[in-house]
Amino acid sequence: MCMVGRGDAGVQWTASQEELEQMLREAAKRIGARLPRRLLMAVRPLAEAYFRTTARGGELRVVINDAFGDAPRDVLEALSEVIVARASGAARPRMVGKPFWDYVETEELRERMQANYLARQRSFDPEPQGRVWNLVELFDAMNKAYFENVLPCPLLGWTRRPLTYRWGWYSSMVRPHGLIVINCLLDEPQVPGFVLEGTMYHEMLHMQVDPVVVNGRRTVHTRGFRVLERRFDRHEDLRPEYRKVLRRYGRRVGAVRRTRGRRGRR
Ligand SMILES: [Zn+2]
Repeated sequence: MCMVGRGDAGVQWTASQEELEQMLREAAKRIGARLPRRLLMAVRPLAEAYFRTTARGGELRVVINDAFGDAPRDVLEALSEVIVARASGAARPRMVGKPFWDYVETEELRERMQANYLARQRSFDPEPQGRVWNLVELFDAMNKAYFENVLPCPLLGWTRRPLTYRWGWYSSMVRPHGLIVINCLLDEPQVPGFVLEGTMYHEMLHMQVDPVVVNGRRTVHTRGFRVLERRFDRHEDLRPEYRKVLRRYGRRVGAVRRTRGRRGRR
């Protein structure tokens, strides 16, 4: 089994609200972007994102991950460019703010982001043994069948809640070997084993196929990825099975709602 340390490494933020706002305004000037008159800045312990922006009614809200609290000034200025590029569409975020993108690749920041992510995330349980399926066994079997046993064991876990929009995900952020999370909707005795295998195979491919950045946009499901995906022998049978899982879940949720509705009317 793989072990990953836990911890929460938020750091004291040194730049003031006004300084941050000023940096954003200056960054906007540098990249030729327009910003709304009203800026609302906050620094929060985000689990995963470097920052978040929301534009509403002539106002821009910016939340920055507290992991950048002690970042050097040129990094914060570069981060401001990235934020402005994302919020205004004036430039592609990956095309600006190079000192920022260099900084997030440093060992120190990657470690801090990982510790924060594991301590703050609420989306999955890092326990591979589900009610029915064991993700380590699944990983080992697929590693042997499709990857000549060369992939190292990542951190494995199930989502805490059923998801209806994705069956799993892979993140390289968690060191040393990444993270694979599988949707707990698949942890049911009615779900055929090959569906678990196909889902795990897809996520394991992400460990092997590097994302491609084209024009500042990161793509993980490249054409090459899709070709390799079809190497899974029952690839064509996966989609109908996923639909069945969703229908079953829909009926379950519907039944709960109807029961609650009846109780509500009494
Ligand atoms: Zn994928």
